[in-house]
Amino acid sequence: MIIAIDGPSGAGKSTLGKMLAKKLGLLYIDTGAMYRTVALYAIRGEIDTRDREAMTSAAESAEIGLSGNPDNLKVFLNGEDVSEAIRSAECGQAASVISTHTGVRRILVERQRRLGESAENGAVLDGRDIGTVVFPNADHKFFLTAKPEARAERRYSEDVAKGRAVSLEHTVREIEKRDERDSTREDSPLMIADDAVVIDTSEMEIGEVLERMISVVVGRS
Ligand code: C5P
Repeated sequence: MIIAIDGPSGAGKSTLGKMLAKKLGLLYIDTGAMYRTVALYAIRGEIDTRDREAMTSAAESAEIGLSGNPDNLKVFLNGEDVSEAIRSAECGQAASVISTHTGVRRILVERQRRLGESAENGAVLDGRDIGTVVFPNADHKFFLTAKPEARAERRYSEDVAKGRAVSLEHTVREIEKRDERDSTREDSPLMIADDAVVIDTSEMEIGEVLERMISVVVGRS
């Protein structure tokens, strides 16, 4: 079983993706973490993130490892645990720049398909293009969204908890910049798949959203 979860940043995709994977015994694949890891590789190697060819080679060379346990997800770059390092705002912005390059996308999309197809019971993948490009024949597709203020507030609270917050205004600006880039890029822009179930999580509790998603998967709605 393949479950696709797409949507803008801060809509709750990763929290819900992990919960859903755990509940259904599926592998959880955070595709944004893969773009972030390639971005970190570029930042560390002082590779120009706008350079299409250099970034395609970087994506080829960066060996990305994801440990599948949704409760304790770990991301590795060439064997080093970079789970925390990739969560910086700098990596988020750089990820959104490098993800505009077709060469980078081609490499990562292929890895995502292989990971999803080889998962024993199936997988939940979260990203921007899972239901439209990576797995257009996914068994279930969700598009999670929320008002920009709600998304920024969630991201800001996460940053405060982790001691890396600047200000709410700063987070709002970062989210707007990333939304704009992710929705207007030529290759695989953030789009709602025709057959996706759209859920606006602005006014909903996490448990409520999970219930709704599970109802869809088990065929209750
Ligand atoms: O989901 P997350 O915020 O970690 O993703 C970081 C960036 O990676 C996004 O802003 C987006 O530009 C890119 N991305 C993508 N396609 C995906 C997942 C993430 O282009 N499937």
